[in-house]
Parts: sequence; structure tokens; C-alpha cells
Amino acid sequence: MTSPQDRPHAETRTVHPPVVEVAGSRPVGVPIYQGHLFAFDDADVMAEAFGGPDGAFFYSRLGNPTVRTLEEAVADLEGGVAGLAAASGMGAINAVLLAVLRTGDHVVAQDCLYGATIGMLDDLAERWGVEVTYVSGTDPEEARAALRPNTRVLYLETIANPTTQVVDLPALIAVAKDAGVLSVVDNTFASPILCRPIAHGADVVVHSATKYLGGHSDVLGGVAVFATEELRRKVWHYAAELGASADPFASWLTVRGMQTLALRMRRHCDNALDLAGRLAGHPAVAAVRYPGLPDHPDHEVAVRLMPDGQGGVLSFDLAGGRQAGAAFAGAVRLAALTPSFGGVKTYVLHPASTSHRMLGDEQLRAAGIGAGTIRLAVGIEHPDDLWADLDQALAKAT
Ligand SMILES: *Cc1c(COP(=O)(O)O)cnc(C)c1O
Repeated sequence: MTSPQDRPHAETRTVHPPVVEVAGSRPVGVPIYQGHLFAFDDADVMAEAFGGPDGAFFYSRLGNPTVRTLEEAVADLEGGVAGLAAASGMGAINAVLLAVLRTGDHVVAQDCLYGATIGMLDDLAERWGVEVTYVSGTDPEEARAALRPNTRVLYLETIANPTTQVVDLPALIAVAKDAGVLSVVDNTFASPILCRPIAHGADVVVHSATKYLGGHSDVLGGVAVFATEELRRKVWHYAAELGASADPFASWLTVRGMQTLALRMRRHCDNALDLAGRLAGHPAVAAVRYPGLPDHPDHEVAVRLMPDGQGGVLSFDLAGGRQAGAAFAGAVRLAALTPSFGGVKTYVLHPASTSHRMLGDEQLRAAGIGAGTIRLAVGIEHPDDLWADLDQALAKAT
């Protein structure tokens, strides 16, 4: 263990390996900065780094170059000033809600939101003294009537699930704007390829990147995008305290997936429209809900908001009810029986026997779900192969 005078000992050299700097060329892919610490050559630069989200990187809970790549990519697609990535969609949603709300504030929210979001709002109401009023989202005047002097947030989803409701975002956001209320829109189901809520006046857009942004069902993530720098700083500050920060490798996977987002969304929409039409003509199917079909109650709004395609998720009711739903779910082979959506593969869910099994028929109806309702999250496979699978499963569900 001897060392020449001009060289540190092996113990020190193993701890400080050389870092190869890229010079003369550049990486084609996005580099993964997995380390959580960044060291400074200049103490003044370090002091400045602590001032906000745009200073030099120093600790990855507050910012990381690979994570920033994801934040900037989603902010760019959504037309916002900046993004904030989180460990999951719920991490992004909670960072936003907890940053802008305080005890005594009031929230107006659409009544068919993502289950965990409703759970969070109910928790805020029960334990944190935030009041919540749920509205149908179908009538801007209903939303206006729900506003109170202490209303701080209007919370909406571009496409709700599994009802496939599409709300009139511009009209509802205008109601919020008139009253000085922040509008937060969960754009997970549409993706920024189909809809950009900030262009319709939204203040914050939130995403579960776990779904279409990542696109391959192999990574959890979330992103919030802000219309103003002020909101971004407020949420960034709180998010750093909350600690639901995005991991560099997860962010890298999401950025990698996003390179095909536009292609995938095109195909998801084409396949969903194709299958919706075929399902509507099948004798075992009582009703199909897809915003791209002319008989969908929100078809006009959906085409106006999302002219390039109305999403990759549809639901349909089996005439045979609960038993037919369970039989269908057990019979699919190419489609996977699983609760999520947004991956390249096709997923099937029978809510009445799984995610909503604790509800009776009456409560199911109130949630806009039938005992024989199937949710189909359409992937990017060939539509004829998907139809062959659905068709053989439908034969067992009559
Ligand atoms: C999945 C989902 C979420 C939650 O996202 P996670 O990444 O699972 O935390 C929130 N909103 C919508 C609309 C979702 O589909």
C-alpha cells in the first residue's frame, strides 16, 4: 500500500475515479445523471444555487439534469413556462394541491375524477379543513354556482374515466378565471398530443407519466406544468419539502418513451375508434362510450378540444350484466386483464368485479358504471388481431 509522492493512495483513488468528459462529440441520447449530489468549483455559484429552481444543480430532490429534461419536454408540449416532475402522478397532484391550498380554502372538483385524487380531496376535507364541492362538469353555470368567496381551485380532468366524459374545458376554466380561481387540469387521458389545457386558460396541468407519456407500463412518474413562473416556484418549493421527487432513471425512461408519443397517440386513437365502431355493432354489447363516436354525449366538445383524436380508452356495457362482464374479462387472451392504461398493449378491466367491487348496483349506477361495464384501454397492436380477441371473448359473454 505504498504510493508515489505525487499520487494519492489507492484508498483515495478508488473513491475518486476519473470522470470522462465528453468533448468533440455529444451524446445522441439523454444522459442519466443518477447521482444525487453536484459539487461546485465556485462558492458564489453554490450560494446562488440555493435561491430557486433555475440555479445550478446541487441535490437531486430539488433538481437534476435528467429530471429537468423530462420537465422541459412536457412543459414544451403543454405550452407552459416550466414543469415539475414527481415520483408518480399522485406525487405531482399532491405537490400542486398541498402547495396552493390551506385550511379554510374551498375546492370545486369534477365528480368523476381518478379514484386516488378523490381520496386525496376527501382526506383534505376530513383532516385538513379544506372544503370540497363536487360538480358534474357538464354545466359551467353549475360550477359558477358552486364557487364561494374562499374557493381557491377548480379541479378537472380532460377525459374522465371510465365514463369517458369530456368536459368543456374553455367554458369551465373561464368561470374559474372570472372569479380569480386557479384551474388545475389532469390531462393524463388526453396527453399533450391531443389536448393542451394551458391554451384554454388552465393554470396548472398535471400528468400521470406512468400512462401515455412513459407509454410502456414500465415506469411510474408524474409531471405538473405551470402557466406562470410564480406558480412554478410556489409548487417547486413545496415539492422539495414533500419529497415526492422524480428519480433520474425513471425520468430517463419516460423521456425515452415520449419520443414516440405522437405516433402512439395517433395509433391509440385510430384503434379505439375502429374497435368502438365494431363493438357498437355486436349483439352482446348494449352500449359503447367513446368520445369519438357521434352518439357520445360529449362528442362535439371532444372533437372541438381534441380534433386529432379522442383518446385511446373506451367503455362498453355487456347486455348480460355482471356475469357477462366477469366472463368476458376471463376470456380475453391478447388483451391483458389489468387496471391501468397508456401502455402499448391493450388492457381490459371489469370495474364491477374489481376496482368498484365494494359498490352495489345502485352505487355503481351513481358512479356511471354498469354491472356489465368493461373498460378497454386500447393499445397499438393491429386492430384486426384485437377485434379477433374481443370477438371470441364476446362469444363467451352472452
Ligand atoms: C393513473 C392516474 C393518476 C395517478 O397516477 P400515478 O402515476 O399512478 O400516481 C392520476 N390521474 C389519472 C387520470 C390517472 O389515470
